[in-house]
Order: sequence, then structure tokens, then C-alpha cells
Amino acid sequence: MKIHEYQGKEILREYGVPTPRGKACFSADEAVAVAQSLGGSAWVVKAQIHAGGRGKGGGVKVARSLDEVRNFADQMLGMKLVTHQTGPDGQVVRRLLIEEGIAIEREYYLGMVVDRESQRVALLASSEGGMEIEEVAKESPEKIHTVRIDPESGLFDKDAEEAASAIGIANLRSAASLFQGLYKAFVEKDAMLAEINPLVLTLDGSLLALDAKFNFDSNALYRHPEIIAYRDLDEEDPAEIEASKFDLSYISLDGDIACLVNGAGLAMATMDIIKLYGGNPANFLDVGGGASREKVTEAFKLMLKNPRLKAILVNIFGGIMKCDVIAEGIVAAVREVHLEVPLVVRLEGTNVDIGKQILEDSGLPIISGSDMADAAQKAVAAARG
Ligand code: GDP
Ligand code: MN
Repeated sequence: MKIHEYQGKEILREYGVPTPRGKACFSADEAVAVAQSLGGSAWVVKAQIHAGGRGKGGGVKVARSLDEVRNFADQMLGMKLVTHQTGPDGQVVRRLLIEEGIAIEREYYLGMVVDRESQRVALLASSEGGMEIEEVAKESPEKIHTVRIDPESGLFDKDAEEAASAIGIANLRSAASLFQGLYKAFVEKDAMLAEINPLVLTLDGSLLALDAKFNFDSNALYRHPEIIAYRDLDEEDPAEIEASKFDLSYISLDGDIACLVNGAGLAMATMDIIKLYGGNPANFLDVGGGASREKVTEAFKLMLKNPRLKAILVNIFGGIMKCDVIAEGIVAAVREVHLEVPLVVRLEGTNVDIGKQILEDSGLPIISGSDMADAAQKAVAAARG
């Protein structure tokens, strides 16, 4: 689960990681009021969306007067901010963060991720702040200093200081305590990723987290009501929110052939085989092993909401899930929602004959696939036609 920058900074402050002073707001009037209360002569107006690269996309602006704060806030609120992380459709800006302007001496990168290979949290530090770390990793990997942290002992002073020194920070003591604060936050909040990019050295010599990005392990959210409270549904895919209500594993993709499958492995294989025959999957959807007729109906309705949809491929291997239950779900869903695209169904396994009979008796225009390859080819052809 992702959160906004200003929420990430609240967590950082809680763990003693210094950030600029600032406050989130929802209107231009509020933005000016926040700037006024912060005082000073420069402010930064920052669009709050769950995506990075806002600076380049026009979502981070330095204002030199309260009038400018108002103008930038007016411009940003309601705009569709497009960055390399939002996709071409962009993301509507509904919240802003207004901060005191900071005079920057140098920018660094600081990140933490779970490194599966070493089964540890890895701290990544780089002198190349403000840049995308993926770029740095590609162009000059020697500029990334990595510490794999032993969960038993935590982040040692000497390792933290060595990392700080490796990226050219002079004040090792304050850098180390900042790194340790981030590590503590990362572990206690069950984060999967934390990024401070840039971490800055200000002209007056202090270190500040100028940006904050967190991603939390959704499997651990049950023990973090305070993180769940940060959830912003406006930033999430409506189809995925709907799916989570029915306990369906659903991920939107940008193709036009929707697939409904039981089992994550089969779902991935189905997406692969659609690709193999030259098509593009519109989603990943696993209805799971013990799906009820209602769940299948909801899954169907969900796929039909996609405006790009050109065909549907249902690929079921009936094991725990019985083919007749799936068939009933399909028939119920299609009766409820008007079906305007071709539907290809491949059923195999438990109760397959009953399932096929139900589909046939329904009189619905269903294209039947004899096996996975046949069904995938028919779905790709149907989407083209
Ligand atoms: P991102 O582009 O979404 O990662 O947004 P950031 O919060 O990282 O901001 C992008 C860039 O704006 C930073 O790398 C800084 O160079 C600049 N920036 C942000 N806040 C300030 C500030 O207070 N003062 C100055 N001078 N620059 C800032
Ligand atoms: Mn950033």
C-alpha cells in the first residue's frame, strides 16, 4: 500500500528524521493560509499523488510570494499530472503539500528495500540525489553504496557512518542517526520500500528529508491501523478497490482481452498464452479456489466495466472449483450485464460436462475452446474481429 509524501514525512518525523516544516491542504485559500503560518519568503507547492517524478511533470514549484503560492496551488489542484510513473493518463491532483522553501547545498539519495537474496533490509545510499535510482544503477552502479542490515543487530553506527562517508556526507553522526531512524520506521511499520530522494544538505549545514516515499506490505496492515488510515482511495484503481471488496485478486492491465481464471499460476499462464498468440491481456483476475456463484458474477461485472474491452477469455481448471459453479456464475453475470464483446470459455476438470451443458442450455453466444491454446487463439481472433 502506498501513501502520500506528507504522510510519509509524518512517519519520518515520528522517528526523528528531520523534514522541512509544512502542511497538507485541499484548496488554494488553505495553501496561502499554510504558507502564511509557516512564514519566511519562499515556499514549495507540491502536488500529492501516489507517483514520483512530479518535479519534471510540473508538480513541484517554488513560490517567492503568497500570490505565487495561490497561483501554483490553483494551477495544480484538479490538474492531471503526468509523470513517468503515472502512465499517459496521468493522475488528478486533489491534495497539496505546502512547505517552507529550503536552500539546498547538495542532494543525496537514501533508500531501503527488502532484499530477497540476502533476506535482509538493504540500505541504498548514493551521492546522485534527485535522480532516479534505476538510472544510477544502470549508468554508474559504483555510486550506490549498499548495506545489508542484520535483523538481529540492526543498523550499526559504523555501517551507517561508512555509508554516509561513502556518498560524501561530512556530518557522519547526524547522517547515521537519520539512517537509523529510517531503518527503525521501516521495520516497525512493515514497509517494503522507503525512499528519501532527495535527502539534502541545506546551506546552513543540516540534513533534511526533502521527499518521502513509502510502500507498505499489505499482508501486515492488520497490525497497523494508523497506516490503513492513510489510505487514499482516489489514488487507487477503482476496479481494484471493487475487487478487494469481493476478495478477488485483480490487477488492471492495458490490453483488451479480459481473462477470468482460477488459480494465480493458471492466470499467469493464460496471460502468457494470450501474448503468445499476439493479443494483450486487459487484466489479471484470479477468482480463487472456492469461489461462489456470486463471486464469479462480481468478477464478470468487474471485467465488463473496462471500456477498452474487446473479448473475454474464461479459462477454468476445475479442481476445488467446480465447472458447473463457474458456468452458473457466467450465465448469471451475462444475464445481469449486457454482454457486447465475444466470450470464449474453456472448461476442464471437475463437473466439466455439467458446466458445458449449463452454458449450452443458456442459449448465450459463447465460443467454446477445446483447450488452452485453442481458447487463447479464439479470444485473440475475436478481439481482432
Ligand atoms: P519528485 O519529483 O516527485 O521526486 O518530487 P521531489 O519532492 O523529489 O521534488 C523534486 C525536486 O524539487 C527536488 O529534487 C528538488 O531539487 C526540488 N525541490 C523540492 N523542494 C525544494 C525546496 O524546498 N527548495 C528547493 N530549492 N528545491 C526543492
Ligand atoms: Mn523525489
